Amino acid sequence: MEIEKIESEIKQCKKCPNLVKSRTQAVPGYGDPKAKVLFVGLAPGREGADLTGVPFTRDKSGLLFQEMLIRTGFSDEKNPGNEKPNLKNVFVTNIVKCNPKRCDKSGRARNRDPTRNEIENCRHFLEKELRALKLKVIVPLGKESTKLICRELNMNCSSNWKKEVKAGDAVIFPIYHPAFIVRGGGKQKYTKQEYQKDFEKLSRMIAEESSTLH
Ligand code: URA
Repeated sequence: MEIEKIESEIKQCKKCPNLVKSRTQAVPGYGDPKAKVLFVGLAPGREGADLTGVPFTRDKSGLLFQEMLIRTGFSDEKNPGNEKPNLKNVFVTNIVKCNPKRCDKSGRARNRDPTRNEIENCRHFLEKELRALKLKVIVPLGKESTKLICRELNMNCSSNWKKEVKAGDAVIFPIYHPAFIVRGGGKQKYTKQEYQKDFEKLSRMIAEESSTLH
């Protein structure tokens, strides 16, 4: 199935009543239909993709992610704030296509993790995206997406965090979620510069792959 068709199915999906109620819109993947690299986040962010309709835009993690793509030649944009970025060789999606919201004690809306049921309901969209693209590298963003992508591909690679694992014609290369870097990079204080190196490595992996073909 073509990417445009999948996009239109996602936009019309009403399978999860709670998400239909709380989402601003369903958020399909976007990017270069000839992409060799697929980035996979967990679910659209409440202050970003849920509002813009484009994964990893507007919120702090989106801005950092777009900046990384620009710095490593995967985006044609100059400004990470552009909310309809023109990406090169990259496609970006989420495991679940609608923002899972919850209210905290004071009634403020917050992001929550998607439920098992929501993940299962959305699974066929990710499967279709994986089939539609001719990928060389699948990059789950963060531990949760890594676990789910590995399960999707029947791989036992959740323990291989930040290591490349072969999956058919592609490799899985899990990296941190941009929100982790925005929040300070954990105990080891993983920096933006180190994060950029992960994107540079991806860019090299793709360049090497293309040079062996030509
Ligand atoms: N925005 C997304 O699109 N996905 C995430 O996982 C987080 C923010």
